[in-house]
Amino acid sequence: MIIRKTALLIGAALVLLGIGHVSGLNARAAEALGQGATPDFALSGELTQGGWARGQAPRGAVQLSFNGKRLPLAADGRFLIAFDRDAAATAQLSARFADGRTANRALAISPRAWQLEHIPIGPRPGAPPSEDFARRRAGELAQINAARAVDHDSTGWRQKFIWPVYGRLSGRFGSQRIYNGTPGSYHSGLDIATGASGTPFVAPADGVVILAAESPFSLEGRLLMIDHGMGLNSAFLHCSKLAVKVGDVVHQGQYLGNIGMTGRATGPHLHWSIKWRDSRLDPLLFTGAMSPH
Ligand SMILES: [Zn+2]
Repeated sequence: MIIRKTALLIGAALVLLGIGHVSGLNARAAEALGQGATPDFALSGELTQGGWARGQAPRGAVQLSFNGKRLPLAADGRFLIAFDRDAAATAQLSARFADGRTANRALAISPRAWQLEHIPIGPRPGAPPSEDFARRRAGELAQINAARAVDHDSTGWRQKFIWPVYGRLSGRFGSQRIYNGTPGSYHSGLDIATGASGTPFVAPADGVVILAAESPFSLEGRLLMIDHGMGLNSAFLHCSKLAVKVGDVVHQGQYLGNIGMTGRATGPHLHWSIKWRDSRLDPLLFTGAMSPH
């Protein structure tokens, strides 16, 4: 249901997308002056919250920015942008040319109908975390942040992603509980359950292993992180076994490990999350719906 609604929203967003404009002169005026029209961006993807788009910068662009921040451009002019779970309704792409001209493109980012669960009471107060836990947790978060800080030149970001494992979707990305009006943190990934521990899972796209926590983290358990390049990475939580190690180059479809329930999990499942820079994304928008197999 959510998927079908999203598809409609995306369709509507694509129709609503304006054509880019050239600052200073519009394209027709530039042509009339004999300067030639400034070429526009080519863009395709899922222009919705939690989604992404791959694009081709206008010919001759030397610099690219997204919402005012510089973005890397591949040698062939390709690039990746993505839209956080709570992204604003519009985003701005901008390219600069060697002669100082710029091409701008406003993007309409459609909102999603996130699965919200209203709980009429406040969250159950847990015991305050012990000093021991706080110290351990800080070390784990430092490892995760250090892993994400390094950019690898993997080209996985160019690929159509595949499912790491087939199963029941037991938790949706973006779903959230509201306790007596106060929102809790939303679910940052997609949960896939096969009904058992030990089911193998594979790489959804090419990448480089940036973290492989053999000793389970307190929340994530055995955690595996893959960098797909251009700031895009996948994380797989609660694994019972990891079959790769940091620095390994992995290919789409390659066996990575086995699902489990290490860390904080109520049953065996694979929690798959995708991040692009600081934006949290919906894995379902990278794979498309799970088709019968
Ligand atoms: Zn989860």
